[in-house]
Amino acid sequence: METSTDDGVAQAGTGTEPATAVPPASLSPSRAGDFMQCPLLYRFRVIDKLPEKPSEAATRGTLVHAVLERLFDAPATERTAPRAKSLVPGQWDRLREAKPELAELFADSDEKAAGERLARWLTEAEQLVERWFTLEDPTRLEPAERELFVEARLDSGLTLRGIIDRVDVAPTGEVRIVDYKTGKAPRPEYAEGALFQMKFYALVVWRLKNVVPRRLQLVYLGSGDVLTYDPVIADLERVERKLLALWDAIRRATESGDWRPRRTKLCGWCDHQEVCPEFGGTPPPYPLPVRAPESGDAAQGRMGPD
Ligand code: SF4
Repeated sequence: METSTDDGVAQAGTGTEPATAVPPASLSPSRAGDFMQCPLLYRFRVIDKLPEKPSEAATRGTLVHAVLERLFDAPATERTAPRAKSLVPGQWDRLREAKPELAELFADSDEKAAGERLARWLTEAEQLVERWFTLEDPTRLEPAERELFVEARLDSGLTLRGIIDRVDVAPTGEVRIVDYKTGKAPRPEYAEGALFQMKFYALVVWRLKNVVPRRLQLVYLGSGDVLTYDPVIADLERVERKLLALWDAIRRATESGDWRPRRTKLCGWCDHQEVCPEFGGTPPPYPLPVRAPESGDAAQGRMGPD
């Protein structure tokens, strides 16, 4: 059986039945990012739903997010670094119960080596949690929302969806959207790409609540940096136009079956090289009906966050 994340990426399971292919119906920041990185990667994830192996880095991110979310269950004065670190083992157990396939991350015929690797990985998660306390003070925060699922339908019919790590609302009503990253902050020249996800969320909140978030805040636990941006309506209108163009390209590729691979250094992290023409592979048969491509279809693969 296969499991699937909220935005369509299948994860390796224990069964063999194929996933049913359906045309994409909505867009999340992650999947928009996939299409901009490589249209073929988007196809593999969203349409073919090819399984992907869990990774230590992504799973550590999920674990750290869970710990930071659960810490706010405690009264403000008890939201300390030792308490947060103490949540790590329990949240790891909970994660493993929910996704038994994660056990393979630390499977090793050498039990001692596997145990040491797991212990190291848990220590790294604790260090990321601890670093958060140098960047924000949870005793002074009272989030309005945590892990908030948002979904908005634009006038064009495109549905945007995603999960916002934290929403803070000031007594004045000003909204701050916060996202935790367990990696390092990007170099300044790549900041715009990092902010794309936050502007996406800001657009959704604006469309849902008719409120433009006052601040977008990315908290990088890997490097101990905080990146902020105060959006204005023109930013969100620009992102909306960008997403509509992206969605149009996705719709055309879905109908034509013409999904171009786009080889970059990020291919090193792609689980699908075996079925990628850039690496000598052949994609599985396209599971949706196709029509002849339109002349504009070649635009795919050149889209960036800006
Ligand atoms: S290996 Fe690279 S080019 Fe091929 S599907 Fe993955 S990201 Fe795209």
